[in-house]
Amino acid sequence: MGFIDVKNKKGTADKNSPVEYSSWLDFWEKKKGKKASTCEAMRCNGKPDVGGHVIKSGEGGKEYILPLCYSHNNKPEDEVFKAWEDDLVSVK
Ligand SMILES: [Zn+2]
Repeated sequence: MGFIDVKNKKGTADKNSPVEYSSWLDFWEKKKGKKASTCEAMRCNGKPDVGGHVIKSGEGGKEYILPLCYSHNNKPEDEVFKAWEDDLVSVK
């Protein structure tokens, strides 16, 4: 465990959150059992505005949810940033 490279997964903005949850951020918080306090991108102090869809750099298409600020959630798909691996919550 530690910091790993992740990238945004694009084309997810219109994906509905699971029916039991009000949003992807709510999904993340319930799965982790804690409130998101900041954007999870390393060294970002932004607010956790959304539950962003990310993939691990170099891994196949497996999607994870990570609390991100709007800025990090809008980064291009090929821009890698670091996040704490332990805080990735698998979509499935
Ligand atoms: Zn951020």
